[in-house]
Amino acid sequence: MIPASLVLNAGSSSLKIQVFVPGDDGVPQRLYQGLVEGLGGAPHFIIRDRAGTVLADERLAASGADGHEAALLHVAEWLSAHRGAHRLAAVGHRVVHGGMAYAAPVRIDDAVLAELERLVPLAPLHQPHNLAPIRVVRRRFPDLPQVACFDTAFHRGQPEIAQLFALPAEVSGRGVRRYGFHGLSYAYLASVLGASAPALAEGRVVAAHLGNGASLCALDRGRSIATTMGFSALDGLPMGTRCGSLDAGAVFFLLREMGLDPDQAERMLYTRSGLLGVSGLSNDMRVLRAHAATHAGARTAIDLFVYRIGRELGSLVAALGGIDGIVFTGGIGENDAATRAAVLRGAAWAGFCLDEAANAAGGPRLTDGPGPQAFVIPTDEEAMIARGMHAVLDEVRQPAL
Ligand code: ADP
Repeated sequence: MIPASLVLNAGSSSLKIQVFVPGDDGVPQRLYQGLVEGLGGAPHFIIRDRAGTVLADERLAASGADGHEAALLHVAEWLSAHRGAHRLAAVGHRVVHGGMAYAAPVRIDDAVLAELERLVPLAPLHQPHNLAPIRVVRRRFPDLPQVACFDTAFHRGQPEIAQLFALPAEVSGRGVRRYGFHGLSYAYLASVLGASAPALAEGRVVAAHLGNGASLCALDRGRSIATTMGFSALDGLPMGTRCGSLDAGAVFFLLREMGLDPDQAERMLYTRSGLLGVSGLSNDMRVLRAHAATHAGARTAIDLFVYRIGRELGSLVAALGGIDGIVFTGGIGENDAATRAAVLRGAAWAGFCLDEAANAAGGPRLTDGPGPQAFVIPTDEEAMIARGMHAVLDEVRQPAL
Protein backbone atom coordinates (compact mmCIF):
# COMPACT_ATOMS: atom_id res chain seq x y z
CA MET A 1 0.00 0.00 0.00
CA ILE A 2 1.10 3.58 -0.62
CA PRO A 3 2.10 5.47 2.53
CA ALA A 4 0.10 8.67 3.04
CA SER A 5 1.23 11.61 5.19
CA LEU A 6 -1.44 13.61 7.02
CA VAL A 7 -0.41 17.26 7.52
CA LEU A 8 -2.28 19.21 10.22
CA ASN A 9 -2.26 22.94 10.85
CA ALA A 10 -4.36 23.52 13.97
CA GLY A 11 -5.52 27.00 15.00
CA SER A 12 -7.87 28.24 17.69
CA SER A 13 -11.04 27.60 15.72
CA SER A 14 -9.91 25.70 12.64
CA LEU A 15 -8.01 22.60 11.61
CA LYS A 16 -6.42 22.60 8.16
CA ILE A 17 -5.83 19.15 6.73
CA GLN A 18 -3.75 18.00 3.79
CA VAL A 19 -2.76 14.52 2.69
CA PHE A 20 0.39 13.79 0.65
CA VAL A 21 1.69 10.63 -1.02
CA PRO A 22 5.13 10.04 -2.53
CA GLY A 23 5.24 11.14 -6.19
CA ASP A 24 7.08 9.26 -8.94
CA ASP A 25 10.16 11.37 -8.25
CA GLY A 26 9.86 10.73 -4.50
CA VAL A 27 8.71 14.32 -3.85
CA PRO A 28 5.47 14.44 -1.81
CA GLN A 29 2.39 15.04 -3.96
CA ARG A 30 -0.83 16.51 -2.57
CA LEU A 31 -3.77 14.08 -2.59
CA TYR A 32 -6.45 15.89 -0.53
CA GLN A 33 -6.83 19.26 1.12
CA GLY A 34 -9.49 20.06 3.66
CA LEU A 35 -10.58 22.25 6.53
CA VAL A 36 -12.70 22.01 9.64
CA GLU A 37 -13.77 25.48 10.71
CA GLY A 38 -16.04 26.77 13.44
CA LEU A 39 -14.47 24.57 16.12
CA GLY A 40 -16.00 25.23 19.51
CA GLY A 41 -19.21 26.42 17.79
CA ALA A 42 -20.88 24.88 14.74
CA PRO A 43 -18.07 22.99 12.99
CA HIS A 44 -18.04 22.52 9.23
CA PHE A 45 -15.86 20.04 7.34
CA ILE A 46 -14.91 20.35 3.68
CA ILE A 47 -12.34 18.34 1.74
CA ARG A 48 -11.25 18.46 -1.89
CA ASP A 49 -9.11 16.31 -4.14
CA ARG A 50 -6.02 17.46 -6.03
CA ALA A 51 -8.15 18.92 -8.85
CA GLY A 52 -10.27 20.93 -6.40
CA THR A 53 -13.37 18.70 -6.63
CA VAL A 54 -15.31 18.75 -3.36
CA LEU A 55 -15.41 15.23 -1.89
CA ALA A 56 -17.21 16.06 1.36
CA ASP A 57 -18.99 19.17 2.63
CA GLU A 58 -20.63 18.48 5.97
CA ARG A 59 -21.82 20.16 9.13
CA LEU A 60 -20.47 18.31 12.16
CA ALA A 61 -22.24 17.93 15.50
CA ALA A 62 -21.70 20.97 17.75
CA SER A 63 -18.54 20.07 19.56
CA GLY A 64 -18.25 22.32 22.61
CA ALA A 65 -14.91 22.66 24.30
CA ASP A 66 -13.65 19.37 22.94
CA GLY A 67 -13.99 20.48 19.33
CA HIS A 68 -10.49 19.66 18.19
CA GLU A 69 -10.57 16.01 19.25
CA ALA A 70 -14.00 15.36 17.73
CA ALA A 71 -12.95 17.07 14.48
CA LEU A 72 -9.73 15.10 14.25
CA LEU A 73 -11.51 11.80 14.82
CA HIS A 74 -14.04 12.72 12.14
CA VAL A 75 -11.21 13.45 9.69
CA ALA A 76 -9.51 10.16 10.60
CA GLU A 77 -12.74 8.26 9.94
CA TRP A 78 -13.25 10.02 6.61
CA LEU A 79 -9.68 9.25 5.55
CA SER A 80 -10.04 5.63 6.56
CA ALA A 81 -13.28 5.30 4.55
CA HIS A 82 -11.60 6.91 1.50
CA ARG A 83 -8.16 5.38 1.76
CA GLY A 84 -8.25 3.32 -1.46
CA ALA A 85 -4.72 2.05 -2.03
CA HIS A 86 -3.28 4.32 0.67
CA ARG A 87 -2.29 3.62 4.24
CA LEU A 88 -1.97 6.44 6.75
CA ALA A 89 1.70 6.24 7.68
CA ALA A 90 2.40 9.38 9.74
CA VAL A 91 1.08 12.75 10.89
CA GLY A 92 2.99 16.02 10.50
CA HIS A 93 2.14 19.17 12.44
CA ARG A 94 2.75 22.85 12.02
CA VAL A 95 4.06 23.99 15.40
CA VAL A 96 4.57 27.70 15.86
CA HIS A 97 7.42 27.57 18.35
CA GLY A 98 10.48 25.36 18.39
CA GLY A 99 12.48 27.58 20.75
CA MET A 100 16.25 27.58 20.42
CA ALA A 101 16.45 23.80 20.35
CA TYR A 102 14.75 22.95 17.07
CA ALA A 103 16.28 24.17 13.82
CA ALA A 104 14.75 21.34 11.75
CA PRO A 105 11.70 19.03 11.74
CA VAL A 106 11.74 16.48 14.56
CA ARG A 107 10.07 13.14 15.23
CA ILE A 108 7.86 13.54 18.30
CA ASP A 109 8.45 11.40 21.37
CA ASP A 110 7.77 12.00 25.08
CA ALA A 111 10.86 14.17 25.52
CA VAL A 112 10.09 16.31 22.45
CA LEU A 113 6.47 16.80 23.51
CA ALA A 114 7.59 17.84 27.01
CA GLU A 115 10.01 20.36 25.49
CA LEU A 116 7.28 21.77 23.20
CA GLU A 117 4.97 22.13 26.18
CA ARG A 118 7.71 24.00 28.03
CA LEU A 119 7.60 26.55 25.17
CA VAL A 120 3.87 27.34 25.64
CA PRO A 121 4.62 30.54 27.63
CA LEU A 122 6.54 31.83 24.60
CA ALA A 123 3.48 31.47 22.32
CA PRO A 124 0.48 31.10 24.66
CA LEU A 125 -2.13 31.91 22.01
CA HIS A 126 -0.85 29.49 19.36
CA GLN A 127 1.30 26.67 20.78
CA PRO A 128 -1.48 24.99 22.83
CA HIS A 129 -3.66 24.64 19.70
CA ASN A 130 -0.74 23.13 17.79
CA LEU A 131 0.00 20.61 20.54
CA ALA A 132 -3.60 19.51 21.16
CA PRO A 133 -3.86 17.30 18.04
CA ILE A 134 -0.45 15.78 18.75
CA ARG A 135 -1.76 14.54 22.09
CA VAL A 136 -5.01 13.28 20.53
CA VAL A 137 -3.09 11.26 17.91
CA ARG A 138 -0.73 9.84 20.57
CA ARG A 139 -3.68 8.72 22.67
CA ARG A 140 -5.91 7.38 19.89
CA PHE A 141 -3.28 6.12 17.42
CA PRO A 142 -0.19 5.43 19.56
CA ASP A 143 1.67 3.57 16.78
CA LEU A 144 1.42 6.41 14.26
CA PRO A 145 4.72 8.34 13.98
CA GLN A 146 4.39 12.12 14.29
CA VAL A 147 6.65 14.94 13.16
CA ALA A 148 6.70 18.58 14.28
CA CYS A 149 7.75 21.30 11.81
CA PHE A 150 8.37 24.75 13.25
CA ASP A 151 7.69 28.32 12.17
CA THR A 152 10.80 29.40 14.04
CA ALA A 153 13.26 26.78 12.75
CA PHE A 154 14.29 28.50 9.51
CA HIS A 155 15.54 31.53 11.45
CA ARG A 156 17.82 29.63 13.84
CA GLY A 157 20.74 30.02 11.48
CA GLN A 158 20.65 33.83 11.78
CA PRO A 159 23.72 35.55 13.19
CA GLU A 160 23.52 35.69 16.99
CA ILE A 161 23.42 39.51 16.89
CA ALA A 162 20.22 39.42 14.80
CA GLN A 163 18.52 37.28 17.47
CA LEU A 164 19.35 39.43 20.50
CA PHE A 165 17.39 42.16 22.28
CA ALA A 166 19.36 44.76 24.21
CA LEU A 167 18.20 43.33 27.53
CA PRO A 168 20.08 42.16 30.62
CA ALA A 169 21.66 38.74 30.22
CA GLU A 170 19.39 37.15 32.82
CA VAL A 171 16.35 38.13 30.71
CA SER A 172 17.86 36.94 27.42
CA GLY A 173 18.84 33.78 29.28
CA ARG A 174 15.15 33.13 30.02
CA GLY A 175 14.52 32.98 26.28
CA VAL A 176 13.49 36.61 25.67
CA ARG A 177 15.07 36.99 22.25
CA ARG A 178 14.08 37.25 18.60
CA TYR A 179 12.84 33.92 17.20
CA GLY A 180 11.06 34.96 14.02
CA PHE A 181 8.05 33.18 12.48
CA HIS A 182 6.55 32.28 9.06
CA GLY A 183 9.66 30.12 8.68
CA LEU A 184 7.88 27.32 6.81
CA SER A 185 6.71 29.86 4.24
CA TYR A 186 10.18 31.39 3.86
CA ALA A 187 11.86 27.99 3.68
CA TYR A 188 9.45 27.04 0.90
CA LEU A 189 10.16 30.26 -1.03
CA ALA A 190 13.90 29.76 -0.62
CA SER A 191 13.54 26.20 -1.93
CA VAL A 192 11.74 27.26 -5.12
CA LEU A 193 13.62 30.50 -5.88
CA GLY A 194 16.02 28.64 -8.16
CA ALA A 195 13.14 27.47 -10.37
CA SER A 196 10.86 30.53 -10.10
CA ALA A 197 13.39 33.38 -10.02
CA PRO A 198 16.84 31.92 -10.83
CA ALA A 199 18.55 35.32 -10.71
CA LEU A 200 17.59 35.64 -7.04
CA ALA A 201 18.47 32.20 -5.69
CA GLU A 202 22.08 33.19 -4.98
CA GLY A 203 21.29 36.82 -4.20
CA ARG A 204 20.07 39.18 -1.46
CA VAL A 205 16.29 38.93 -1.29
CA VAL A 206 13.56 40.29 0.96
CA ALA A 207 10.63 37.87 1.10
CA ALA A 208 7.33 39.48 2.08
CA HIS A 209 4.74 37.12 3.58
CA LEU A 210 1.66 39.36 3.61
CA GLY A 211 -1.47 37.58 4.83
CA ASN A 212 -3.53 37.90 7.99
CA GLY A 213 -0.19 37.50 9.70
CA ALA A 214 2.53 39.51 7.95
CA SER A 215 6.30 39.67 8.11
CA LEU A 216 9.41 40.25 6.01
CA CYS A 217 12.51 38.06 5.92
CA ALA A 218 15.97 38.91 4.62
CA LEU A 219 17.33 35.96 2.62
CA ASP A 220 21.02 35.87 1.84
CA ARG A 221 21.58 33.10 -0.73
CA GLY A 222 18.42 31.41 0.53
CA ARG A 223 19.27 31.62 4.23
CA SER A 224 17.40 33.80 6.75
CA ILE A 225 19.66 36.47 8.22
CA ALA A 226 17.00 38.76 9.75
CA THR A 227 13.21 38.97 10.01
CA THR A 228 10.63 41.45 11.26
CA MET A 229 8.84 39.18 13.75
CA GLY A 230 10.71 38.80 17.00
CA PHE A 231 9.94 37.24 20.38
CA SER A 232 6.31 36.79 19.38
CA ALA A 233 4.25 36.87 16.21
CA LEU A 234 3.16 40.36 17.28
CA ASP A 235 6.27 42.23 16.18
CA GLY A 236 7.19 43.92 12.91
CA LEU A 237 4.50 44.81 10.36
CA PRO A 238 0.92 45.73 11.23
CA MET A 239 -1.28 42.70 10.44
CA GLY A 240 -4.96 41.88 10.08
CA THR A 241 -5.63 42.27 13.81
CA ARG A 242 -2.11 42.52 15.34
CA CYS A 243 -0.34 45.80 15.97
CA GLY A 244 3.18 44.99 14.76
CA SER A 245 6.14 46.84 16.28
CA LEU A 246 5.12 48.80 19.34
CA ASP A 247 7.17 50.79 21.79
CA ALA A 248 7.17 48.70 25.00
CA GLY A 249 6.36 51.97 26.82
CA ALA A 250 2.91 51.91 25.18
CA VAL A 251 2.19 48.58 26.87
CA PHE A 252 2.90 50.12 30.29
CA PHE A 253 0.50 52.94 29.40
CA LEU A 254 -2.24 50.40 28.55
CA LEU A 255 -1.71 48.71 31.91
CA ARG A 256 -1.24 51.73 34.18
CA GLU A 257 -3.21 54.52 32.59
CA MET A 258 -5.95 52.67 30.74
CA GLY A 259 -6.42 50.10 33.50
CA LEU A 260 -6.18 47.01 31.28
CA ASP A 261 -4.99 43.80 32.89
CA PRO A 262 -2.30 41.81 31.02
CA ASP A 263 -4.84 39.48 29.39
CA GLN A 264 -6.94 42.40 28.15
CA ALA A 265 -3.86 44.19 26.80
CA GLU A 266 -2.72 41.01 25.06
CA ARG A 267 -6.13 40.51 23.47
CA MET A 268 -6.19 44.11 22.29
CA LEU A 269 -2.76 43.89 20.65
CA TYR A 270 -3.44 40.49 19.04
CA THR A 271 -7.10 40.72 18.05
CA ARG A 272 -8.28 44.36 17.92
CA SER A 273 -5.31 46.18 16.40
CA GLY A 274 -3.63 46.19 12.97
CA LEU A 275 -5.79 46.78 9.89
CA LEU A 276 -8.95 46.16 11.94
CA GLY A 277 -8.03 48.53 14.76
CA VAL A 278 -6.82 51.37 12.55
CA SER A 279 -9.67 51.16 10.04
CA GLY A 280 -12.40 50.48 12.58
CA LEU A 281 -13.89 48.47 9.73
CA SER A 282 -12.24 45.15 8.90
CA ASN A 283 -9.07 43.06 9.08
CA ASP A 284 -9.68 41.92 5.50
CA MET A 285 -7.73 43.73 2.78
CA ARG A 286 -10.47 43.05 0.21
CA VAL A 287 -13.03 44.87 2.37
CA LEU A 288 -10.64 47.78 2.98
CA ARG A 289 -9.95 48.12 -0.75
CA ALA A 290 -13.67 48.06 -1.50
CA HIS A 291 -14.30 50.96 0.93
CA ALA A 292 -11.06 52.94 0.53
CA ALA A 293 -12.64 55.61 -1.68
CA THR A 294 -15.23 56.54 0.91
CA HIS A 295 -13.87 55.38 4.28
CA ALA A 296 -11.01 57.39 5.78
CA GLY A 297 -10.15 54.66 8.31
CA ALA A 298 -9.79 52.07 5.56
CA ARG A 299 -7.43 54.38 3.65
CA THR A 300 -5.31 55.10 6.73
CA ALA A 301 -5.04 51.39 7.57
CA ILE A 302 -3.81 50.59 4.03
CA ASP A 303 -1.43 53.57 4.01
CA LEU A 304 0.06 52.57 7.37
CA PHE A 305 0.47 48.96 6.23
CA VAL A 306 2.36 50.06 3.10
CA TYR A 307 4.41 52.67 5.00
CA ARG A 308 5.51 50.12 7.60
CA ILE A 309 6.46 47.60 4.90
CA GLY A 310 8.63 50.30 3.31
CA ARG A 311 10.32 51.16 6.61
CA GLU A 312 11.03 47.52 7.51
CA LEU A 313 12.19 46.82 3.97
CA GLY A 314 14.81 49.54 4.32
CA SER A 315 16.02 47.97 7.56
CA LEU A 316 16.39 44.53 5.97
CA VAL A 317 18.16 45.97 2.91
CA ALA A 318 20.69 47.43 5.36
CA ALA A 319 21.05 44.03 7.07
CA LEU A 320 21.67 42.41 3.66
CA GLY A 321 24.06 45.13 2.50
CA GLY A 322 21.98 45.72 -0.65
CA ILE A 323 19.14 44.05 -2.48
CA ASP A 324 18.72 41.95 -5.62
CA GLY A 325 15.02 41.25 -5.31
CA ILE A 326 11.71 41.12 -3.45
CA VAL A 327 9.35 38.15 -3.43
CA PHE A 328 5.70 38.65 -2.45
CA THR A 329 3.56 35.86 -1.02
CA GLY A 330 0.53 35.28 1.29
CA GLY A 331 -3.10 36.28 0.63
CA ILE A 332 -2.29 39.98 0.19
CA GLY A 333 1.14 39.51 -1.40
CA GLU A 334 -0.22 37.06 -3.97
CA ASN A 335 -3.49 38.83 -4.77
CA ASP A 336 -3.42 42.53 -3.96
CA ALA A 337 -1.70 44.25 -6.89
CA ALA A 338 -2.27 47.69 -5.35
CA THR A 339 -0.25 46.84 -2.22
CA ARG A 340 2.58 45.40 -4.32
CA ALA A 341 2.59 48.46 -6.58
CA ALA A 342 2.69 50.87 -3.62
CA VAL A 343 5.55 48.95 -1.97
CA LEU A 344 7.58 48.82 -5.19
CA ARG A 345 6.99 52.50 -5.99
CA GLY A 346 8.12 53.34 -2.47
CA ALA A 347 11.24 51.24 -3.01
CA ALA A 348 12.26 53.10 -6.20
CA TRP A 349 15.21 54.43 -4.14
CA ALA A 350 16.63 50.88 -4.22
CA GLY A 351 16.31 50.76 -8.03
CA PHE A 352 13.02 48.84 -8.37
CA CYS A 353 11.25 49.67 -11.63
CA LEU A 354 7.61 48.56 -11.46
CA ASP A 355 6.12 46.94 -14.57
CA GLU A 356 2.52 48.10 -14.06
CA ALA A 357 0.98 45.70 -16.58
CA ALA A 358 2.87 42.68 -15.27
CA ASN A 359 1.90 43.56 -11.70
CA ALA A 360 -1.76 44.01 -12.62
CA ALA A 361 -1.64 40.60 -14.33
CA GLY A 362 -0.27 38.98 -11.15
CA GLY A 363 3.32 38.48 -12.28
CA PRO A 364 5.19 36.29 -11.67
CA ARG A 365 7.79 38.96 -12.54
CA LEU A 366 6.71 42.49 -11.54
CA THR A 367 9.65 44.65 -12.60
CA ASP A 368 11.59 45.52 -15.71
CA GLY A 369 14.89 47.26 -16.26
CA PRO A 370 18.35 46.44 -14.97
CA GLY A 371 17.67 47.05 -11.24
CA PRO A 372 16.55 44.60 -8.57
CA GLN A 373 13.63 42.36 -9.52
CA ALA A 374 10.32 41.61 -7.87
CA PHE A 375 8.29 38.42 -8.14
CA VAL A 376 5.07 36.89 -6.86
CA ILE A 377 5.51 33.29 -5.71
CA PRO A 378 2.57 31.50 -4.02
CA THR A 379 3.69 29.91 -0.77
CA ASP A 380 3.02 26.32 0.30
CA GLU A 381 3.69 25.74 4.00
CA GLU A 382 2.00 22.34 4.00
CA ALA A 383 4.28 21.07 1.22
CA MET A 384 7.20 22.09 3.42
CA ILE A 385 5.77 20.03 6.31
CA ALA A 386 5.33 17.03 3.99
CA ARG A 387 8.94 17.42 2.87
CA GLY A 388 10.01 17.65 6.52
CA MET A 389 8.21 14.38 7.22
CA HIS A 390 9.99 12.75 4.28
CA ALA A 391 13.30 14.01 5.64
CA VAL A 392 12.92 12.42 9.07
CA LEU A 393 10.67 9.36 8.56
CA ASP A 394 11.42 6.29 6.44
CA GLU A 395 7.80 5.24 6.91
CA VAL A 396 6.37 7.88 4.54
CA ARG A 397 8.94 7.37 1.78
CA GLN A 398 8.84 3.66 1.21
CA PRO A 399 5.75 1.77 0.09
CA ALA A 400 5.16 -1.15 2.49
CA LEU A 401 6.13 -4.53 1.04
P1 ADP B 1 -3.49 33.69 6.75
O1 ADP B 1 -2.35 34.47 7.29
O2 ADP B 1 -4.66 33.59 7.70
O3 ADP B 1 -3.13 32.41 6.05
P2 ADP B 1 -3.98 34.66 4.06
O4 ADP B 1 -2.59 34.41 3.61
O5 ADP B 1 -5.07 33.81 3.51
O6 ADP B 1 -4.10 34.67 5.64
O7 ADP B 1 -4.30 36.19 3.76
C1 ADP B 1 -5.51 36.78 4.12
C2 ADP B 1 -5.49 38.22 3.58
O8 ADP B 1 -5.35 38.17 2.15
C3 ADP B 1 -6.76 39.00 3.87
O9 ADP B 1 -6.46 40.33 4.25
C4 ADP B 1 -7.46 39.01 2.51
O10 ADP B 1 -8.25 40.15 2.34
C5 ADP B 1 -6.27 39.08 1.59
N1 ADP B 1 -6.68 38.67 0.25
C6 ADP B 1 -7.06 37.45 -0.17
N2 ADP B 1 -7.44 37.51 -1.47
C7 ADP B 1 -7.30 38.79 -1.86
C8 ADP B 1 -7.53 39.51 -3.08
N3 ADP B 1 -7.98 38.88 -4.16
N4 ADP B 1 -7.26 40.83 -3.10
C9 ADP B 1 -6.80 41.48 -2.02
N5 ADP B 1 -6.57 40.87 -0.85
C10 ADP B 1 -6.82 39.55 -0.77
